Amino acid sequence: MRKKAAPGKATRRQAGRATGGSGPKPRARSAAPPSKPKSAPKPKQKFPPIPERAREILARLEREYPDAHCALDFRNPYQLLVATILSAQCTDVRVNLVTPAFFARFPTAEDLATADPAEVENLIRSTGFFRNKTRSLLGMARGVVETYKGKIPQDMTSLRVLPGVGRKTANVVLGNAFGINEGVVVDTHVTRVAGRLGLTKHVDAEKIEQDLIPLFPQAKWTMVSHYLISHGRQVCIARRPRCEVCVLADLCPSARLFL
Ligand code: SF4
Repeated sequence: MRKKAAPGKATRRQAGRATGGSGPKPRARSAAPPSKPKSAPKPKQKFPPIPERAREILARLEREYPDAHCALDFRNPYQLLVATILSAQCTDVRVNLVTPAFFARFPTAEDLATADPAEVENLIRSTGFFRNKTRSLLGMARGVVETYKGKIPQDMTSLRVLPGVGRKTANVVLGNAFGINEGVVVDTHVTRVAGRLGLTKHVDAEKIEQDLIPLFPQAKWTMVSHYLISHGRQVCIARRPRCEVCVLADLCPSARLFL
């Protein structure tokens, strides 16, 4: 009769299995190095709804850029209209270098309306596209003189019928020369920063503007543009955004793409 193992003690056969004695040998372990654990996909960061984020973005940008303003030098609506037409495909710094001599030579729309195109071209040559810009400037000046008695009109519809004046240019003039918040100026910086912040999915300026308008109070529309432009120039730079120092990083869906 086989002796029963004492409670808590293993039989020989059981012990053999455990130690490799008389029982089946344990399989040899594979010599291959353990494969690297797959890195888990980053959990998607959750952000507050866009209108809520937009409010916080505006509050932070207001604190960050209290002196934000139009970077074009001007003394009256006519000068700003000219400077804005010249700023197409050109830096504001370059335009500001050109306009003092231009306004000394053509101080009013009446002066510009009768200008010799060749002289205008020479004055604005360094801003690029100078032939097209000359056509726009002369057409605009003639329109202002003939239709508006030499005064720059103060509404979107009247401005937009002037040659060379699109919605963006009209928004710049209305917002900065007349203090009228008709819309949000959308330039290359606003396009980039608003897109990275997830405030718009569009690339067309007028569609971007229609996305931004309901997100901000009308009284702030002109400044929203200046804030986004300042942020785009100083922090959310096109090629190398400085997300590590950005005050909007925790509100920005693009931050982790660059960090
Ligand atoms: S976190 Fe980066 S990408 Fe987003 S707004 Fe700031 S700088 Fe631009």
